[in-house]
Amino acid sequence: MSAWSGNDTKKYLPVLLAEHGNLCVLCGEPCAPDELSVEHLIPRSTAPELSHDLDNLRISHKSCNFSRGNRSIETFRSHYSNNLSWWNNIQ
Ligand SMILES: [Zn+2]
Repeated sequence: MSAWSGNDTKKYLPVLLAEHGNLCVLCGEPCAPDELSVEHLIPRSTAPELSHDLDNLRISHKSCNFSRGNRSIETFRSHYSNNLSWWNNIQ
């Protein structure tokens, strides 16, 4: 089963918070409770078999998660840190 649902988010968020804290894996800033989402380090589209693997799950802001899309984390971070105008354009 590779589908991801809101119930999965509810299930995994407390586990990830306990293990990794509330820092966004994408931008490094803390997430407020209403900004929390579960980020797949390797996107589900690339590795559906890892979509429920705790080693592949981290905390991120909903907005960061959405903006990243299917880019690699490295690509997202380099754009985020090197080109804030690019970042603002895709908000
Ligand atoms: Zn973030």
